[in-house]
Amino acid sequence: MATVPDSLVGKTRLELKEVLENRSDAGLRSKQLCWHLYRRAEDQLEKMGDLPQALREELATRFVAQPLTTATHRKSTDGVEKLLVHNGDGQVYECVLLPYADRVSCCISSQVGCPMGCTFCATGLGGFDRNLTAGEIVGQYLMLQRLTERRISHVVFMGMGEPLLNLDNVVKALHLFKDEVGLSMRHLTVSTVGLVPQIKKLAEMKLPIHLALSLHSPLDAVRDRLMPVNHRWPVAEVVQTMRDYQQATGRKVTFEYLLIKDVTDTPDQAEALARLMKGFPNVVNLIPFNWVDTDQGFARPTREAVRKFRGILEGRGINVTERTERGHDIAAACGQLAGQHAGRFAKRAALGPVPVLPS
Ligand code: SAH
Ligand code: SF4
Repeated sequence: MATVPDSLVGKTRLELKEVLENRSDAGLRSKQLCWHLYRRAEDQLEKMGDLPQALREELATRFVAQPLTTATHRKSTDGVEKLLVHNGDGQVYECVLLPYADRVSCCISSQVGCPMGCTFCATGLGGFDRNLTAGEIVGQYLMLQRLTERRISHVVFMGMGEPLLNLDNVVKALHLFKDEVGLSMRHLTVSTVGLVPQIKKLAEMKLPIHLALSLHSPLDAVRDRLMPVNHRWPVAEVVQTMRDYQQATGRKVTFEYLLIKDVTDTPDQAEALARLMKGFPNVVNLIPFNWVDTDQGFARPTREAVRKFRGILEGRGINVTERTERGHDIAAACGQLAGQHAGRFAKRAALGPVPVLPS
């Protein structure tokens, strides 16, 4: 494997200060470095004009400013942009820029691939390579920030990987987003497949982030089939853990619900979901299945089924949102961030364009 140069992005202010330990002005210089790297998303040391040239040159012999290189950059007709990035070791992962009228958000990866093996997910189907470092996680945000004049204010960990399997690096990245990039932790969303011990660990940290659980079915028999993790921590246990998380942190959690035709979109599951959500002042976010060639024949729900499912939940007083789907023409949707690069995995190369929602 190629040796990957150490990068400044990913280091906390204290760590940068340690890098500069032999200088009397280490405090000031680490502050300036953080400003350039994280606030200005500057990726070239020579453009950090208020740092002494000798220092910039010395740093350049030991570090790169940021770790990532773009392999592919695709723009959707609806303004969504997707980057396929790597850090020189040949392992690629994806991040997406999501501009809205009132804000700019981004979706980033926490791992290269994912070991959780969910049967509906392109990332899961492709296998797992490794965890991303904090620098590679924050680096995705910075790469995307350089694409737009507008400020990216929201980050969702809904790209490749299971964030809670890479908890230390993800938590370090969350702190960097808050302390150095200057984002509100309330605008940082971590989505998890439902790893109970890790959710408990996160609860102890009491970070004011937004936690979302990918629930996808209220029934163990169905969730077992979709998500192998359910065999270990079934529905009742993971939902109780989310309840405890909410109590411990004072932050409302939300639930992602994937609608797969005739698998999860049935009225009986809407009823069971409504019962399960009792006492949560939360939101269920409905996600129509983005077509992936899964071998299971999963299909997108009809509009009518989505409407009916939503109606049942709302009729029971549940707050419901529907994920607006964007970036279809560049395969930027959830579950499709699979590193479609040079046929990295056979399955990944086979992913086709997404059909429009049938009426
Ligand atoms: N591993 C984490 C976060 C990354 S996946 C998790 O599973 O929550 C981000 C979201 O995309 C999850 O809610 C996941 O269930 C969803 N997803 C995966 N494959 C999908 C697909 N084919 N269509 C729609 N959503 C999908
Ligand atoms: Fe991993 Fe999330 Fe995909 Fe499941 S849905 S395989 S946890 S990325």
